[in-house]
Amino acid sequence: MHLITRCVHHPEPPLAGFRSLSVPTYRASTIVFDNANDYYHRKERGPDGYSYGMNGTPTTRVLEQQISQLHSSAHTVVLPSGQAAIAAVILSVLNTGDHILIPDSVYPPVKNLCAHLASSMGITFDCYDPEDIDELTQLITDDTKLIWTESPGSATMEIQDIPAIVAVAHGRNIAVGCDNTWATPLLFRPIEHGVDYVVEAITKYIGGHSDILMGSVTVNTQPRYLQLKKTVGMLGYCVSPDECALALRGIETMALRVTHAGEVANRLSGKIRQRYPSVTVLNPSLPGAAGHTLWRRDFSGSSGVFSLVLRGSTPESLNDALSRLRVFAIGASWGGTHSLIAPMIVGNEVGSKNYRPDDIILRISVGLEAEEDLWQDIERIFSVD
Ligand SMILES: *Cc1c(COP(=O)(O)O)cnc(C)c1O
Repeated sequence: MHLITRCVHHPEPPLAGFRSLSVPTYRASTIVFDNANDYYHRKERGPDGYSYGMNGTPTTRVLEQQISQLHSSAHTVVLPSGQAAIAAVILSVLNTGDHILIPDSVYPPVKNLCAHLASSMGITFDCYDPEDIDELTQLITDDTKLIWTESPGSATMEIQDIPAIVAVAHGRNIAVGCDNTWATPLLFRPIEHGVDYVVEAITKYIGGHSDILMGSVTVNTQPRYLQLKKTVGMLGYCVSPDECALALRGIETMALRVTHAGEVANRLSGKIRQRYPSVTVLNPSLPGAAGHTLWRRDFSGSSGVFSLVLRGSTPESLNDALSRLRVFAIGASWGGTHSLIAPMIVGNEVGSKNYRPDDIILRISVGLEAEEDLWQDIERIFSVD
């Protein structure tokens, strides 16, 4: 063989006797076949088989299987972001003429998707109060094919009665999807409560370090899985194996991170409630909070995200207050090692009808810094000059 060819064709990796605790990053666009027949019949390898890099490599499969196992479910597909995962479910389930119900408290880009892209395809939607199952039931039409849930809701933290919603939906042959990003499979497993599609924004606790964007959809039936894979394939959605490897690294420490952040978040939010009574604390795991009874029934713990409602504060005064922060960073997303605060003006960014448009919501994500440093930062927000 010519040297030129030897440059292109590397030796086989000598794997005998080698074992590592980490999952290798298998990169590939092309998958090669032993012979022409195998190539002709590559589609017969099924949805988990390797036929083209778009459909994943062994690194992708390990991450998908690990998430499936955490959800006690059969199938998971990883996607380029949490929003992409939600979009994949919506586009997989709904056709022209169909109707979807989404909670007022939904992650705002989902409402945007329903109001624009889905709507342009002839898919209609209505928003329902996440805590009002009667309203939800009344909004169901003969065309409703999917009820979307998110518990707790983005920014406003409403807990939904998922088993009751599943009972209403399945009685009418409607699928239920649940955005489980806050809880992670460690604290709530919607599939065990009958939910058909579970989305995790891997970007948050699974990735865990504020440096990757990824999402997943977990389903428990083969027909739903096949339909989802078909939709994802047509859209050309795929995730790089390098990022899957980062998610696999993140998932190993997720239980410790989530448990710690949840405990600190509960102590901090309890202290805020006691010390600053004019601030409304939204955290379902605090006794007496809205949704606490349902949270106790269905969730096995709390993660590190909660919200504060500030009434009568102006964006200007809040800007001054947040400029005093030393540990918390200001920014969107959450679930990483760094604590974050996202200030939101309700009228601009929050769907819930329970707040005034000029209310300000601070969404707080507790990271892994010392609790005392975080508390001092919170005191800085509320200290009057
Ligand atoms: C962040 C988030 C998403 C979207 O995840 P991305 O990866 O940022 O697209 C979806 N749902 C919830 C509840 C989120 O917090």
